[in-house]
Amino acid sequence: MEMTQRSVGILPLGEVPGLVLKIMAAHILAYADLPAKILPSLETPHFALDKRRLQYDAGGILKMLESRGIKGCTKVVAVMDQDLFVPVFTHVYGEARQGGNMALVSLFRLDKNPDGSTPASSLFYERAAKIALHELGHLFDLFHCNESTCLMHFSGDLEDLDRSSFSFCRHCSVGLRFHL
Ligand SMILES: [Zn+2]
Ligand SMILES: [Zn+2]
Repeated sequence: MEMTQRSVGILPLGEVPGLVLKIMAAHILAYADLPAKILPSLETPHFALDKRRLQYDAGGILKMLESRGIKGCTKVVAVMDQDLFVPVFTHVYGEARQGGNMALVSLFRLDKNPDGSTPASSLFYERAAKIALHELGHLFDLFHCNESTCLMHFSGDLEDLDRSSFSFCRHCSVGLRFHL
């Protein structure tokens, strides 16, 4: 795929199933109209593991990625299979710097439904793609949206996430186009 200033890189950290990365890339092209390419993986950021919480520090990983920089893409969505936290939350599905260029998505909690059952793989992929698009929205400086079906609505749990649709509301779409 041609490298443009607007291209998004999808960066696996450690072992991440290739199919989920391809599905994210396809959704970023389809719903945010941005070419996305899958980058060679980096190793799992072991330094960010909090040994007491057994979760990875999302802020620490973003800081590492920012200082390292990723060539060829202005925006990067890193993806990992481990559980993430930020200090004020028990866990997060993703994290991004508002208006920055590095975002992070965790797949860890997406393959278990709130009732303990296992979702169809299509639902798992859908959740992963929604989080990637949401975090990418933050990189393009979109804030959380009150519209419950908008991709920029804050999802505290999977029920919220499953309620959102694959679209940015009118307001967020305008904001996204403005920042591209
Ligand atoms: Zn958010
Ligand atoms: Zn919205």
